[in-house]
Amino acid sequence: VAAVAFVGYFVIMNIFGFGGDGGQDAFTASLASVNNPSGDSGSGSGVVAKMQKAKKNVVVFYGSQTGTAEDLASKLAKELHSRFGLSTMTADLEDYEYEDFDTFPEDTLVLFMMASYGEGEPTDNAANLWTFIMEDAPEFSNGGDMKPLESMHFAVFGLGNSTYEHYNAIGRQLDARLEALGATRVGKYGEGDDGAGTMEEDYLSWKEEFMTTLREERGLQERDYVYEPTIELEDVYDLSVDSPDVYLGEPNKNHLAGISKAPFTAHNPLLCPIKDTHELFKDNKRNCVHVEFDTSDENIRYTTGDHLAFWCQNESIEVDRFLKAFGYENRRDDVFVVKKLDSTTNVRFPSPTTFDTVTRFFLGINGPVSRQLLTQLVGFAPSKEAEDAVRKYGASKDMFHESIASKNYNLARLLLELSNGKPWDRVPFSFLIENIPHLQPRYYSISSSSAEQPNTVSITAVVERNRGPDADFDCHGVATNNIFDIKEAMAGKTTGNFKLDGARGSYTKGDAIRAPIHIRHSNFKLPSKAGAPIIMVGPGTGVAPFRGFIRERAHLAKSGKEIGKAVLFFGCRHSKGDFLYEEEWPNYTSEETVGKIDGPFTESNFLELHTAFSRDSDKKYYVQDRMRENSKLVNELLLKGAYFYVCGDASRMAREVQTTLAEIISKERGIDFDEAERIVKKMKSRNLLQEDVW
Ligand code: FAD
Repeated sequence: VAAVAFVGYFVIMNIFGFGGDGGQDAFTASLASVNNPSGDSGSGSGVVAKMQKAKKNVVVFYGSQTGTAEDLASKLAKELHSRFGLSTMTADLEDYEYEDFDTFPEDTLVLFMMASYGEGEPTDNAANLWTFIMEDAPEFSNGGDMKPLESMHFAVFGLGNSTYEHYNAIGRQLDARLEALGATRVGKYGEGDDGAGTMEEDYLSWKEEFMTTLREERGLQERDYVYEPTIELEDVYDLSVDSPDVYLGEPNKNHLAGISKAPFTAHNPLLCPIKDTHELFKDNKRNCVHVEFDTSDENIRYTTGDHLAFWCQNESIEVDRFLKAFGYENRRDDVFVVKKLDSTTNVRFPSPTTFDTVTRFFLGINGPVSRQLLTQLVGFAPSKEAEDAVRKYGASKDMFHESIASKNYNLARLLLELSNGKPWDRVPFSFLIENIPHLQPRYYSISSSSAEQPNTVSITAVVERNRGPDADFDCHGVATNNIFDIKEAMAGKTTGNFKLDGARGSYTKGDAIRAPIHIRHSNFKLPSKAGAPIIMVGPGTGVAPFRGFIRERAHLAKSGKEIGKAVLFFGCRHSKGDFLYEEEWPNYTSEETVGKIDGPFTESNFLELHTAFSRDSDKKYYVQDRMRENSKLVNELLLKGAYFYVCGDASRMAREVQTTLAEIISKERGIDFDEAERIVKKMKSRNLLQEDVW
């Protein structure tokens, strides 16, 4: 093994402890290895070649679905650079091939921020890595070695949700797999729990321990945090907000040119006309909106059970607050271009653009405040008091949670309060772009049937307006309030809360309001045999995909297909108020077929509906109660090969429903609970039990 050394800020280090003795030789060796890390010319397309070209010694990969893993990857890369002087880059797993993973030089560090999705699956952008690395003998470029990844030094942080059965399956399996393939772990495997609401704190404690390992075991020296931009904003004075080349919220070049071109993907949404929106709740207390997208003129396909991704924008009041908080109120329409100072930096929006556009369409300005971000703002405070306050809250986990996290602040609201309304105009806008997560599309379970309505995609979205127990103001969910505003506008009530005409009026061209969407394919699917019985448990908006399932079955029956029995357990607060699609269900139900298991069924009698209302009477009823009351029916259907589906709240409902299912099997079949649980597990592995939970 050649002498391996690492370049930090002030000293020359040998962080992985192989040979190398510091001093000029190590310095030279290190630089040489950074210049030509694998000792060969590299493949040119792989990550190793890219690192070599950009002189990087740390790569932070991310497998991200909702943007959190990507955000943490970016934070980690920046912090490793600013604290230790390491030359870092982040990398989207989907942008690389993995054959060269056995050629990482020993003085590079390979980090993975890996989210688990759904039933312990990799995120879409990590799917290819997964197929490759989990193969019995992945075909690396050098090939044939029992420990092909011997030269890789790695660490994995998993992002998961403990309310799901396969908690952090991806992070854990990748960590074990890399070790099994011969790679050396640096520090410990770490993981964060979204289910417990502790993701940021879990990350911060793992990250601190990891940094301590680098410092104490690998000898890296540290300096105080200094912001070192990886991008630069350059004012463009000869362009204005009216210039045709300036991006005003168009997601990409095609959209700016006015050409909407398939395929529509997570990188290229369709600007889709909306043909209907209506309110589903009747109690005037909360809102739930049914939205129908018209895809008839567009090349976009879905199948029943898929998800629709809605590309939301920020509410105008929050855009204004943000621009005011950072002193850009009067510069909102000024035009700038983004210049990369580092070739590996990913800028997620096009430029030239304006401050208003970036704030409205590309930054996640409305989410909870990050404690880590507060610590980075200390040096930019507009007054001594504001500086002391951000320092104090940034340093104390307890104080932060008590005074900030529990009060629903977003960043702009908090900073303005801490500075008594003084703008934080020393914060460079590039810092905000680099440190605030990107605004992500929100996913919705499609509530229409592709067989019945191939050119209509509908969703069912409950509008999020919540006030935490300690908060003084309501906290608005971004996408659902955007959707609500579209509904209001379609009913002739223009509120001005959102910029519904989008970039250059493109969202309201013609006679429809449009919104950017794409379809995400899902494995949550009806049985291929229409005759197979189905049992569906979907409280609240969890009923959305089941509306699609039921309409599909009815459509098949109408076209002469033999269909199986369907049982739906639906729950909500009140029988009058939030009973979703109340008027539709009677079209498919009939008293005569209640309790009947075998067909023939028709489109107007195949459904048996059991409702549970939690606030109609003193006794609260939940879907689990109704399942228990109908345990005989559930068991008999399962014995007839029924598929069992659960959709909705992941935090408690899904797990409780599964436990109830095992209780039913145990009681009805006279077997002990453990055995019944094994049967439920087996149903899962055979796809007879499917979940669509969030
Ligand atoms: P967000 O802005 O994302 O906020 C989320 C929550 O955090 C809200 O309750 C909000 O009040 C709170 N919040 C926001 N900012 C702060 C802050 N600063 N401090 C504290 N709290 C804050 N939803 C449906 O209604 N119907 C469906 O059919 C559906 N299907 C889904 C399917 C999948 C696969 C997934 C992953 C999710 C699904 N969801 C569904 C959930 C949906 O994607 C959104 O998460 C939900 O609509 C909220 O989005 P939002 O942008 O309005 O809220």
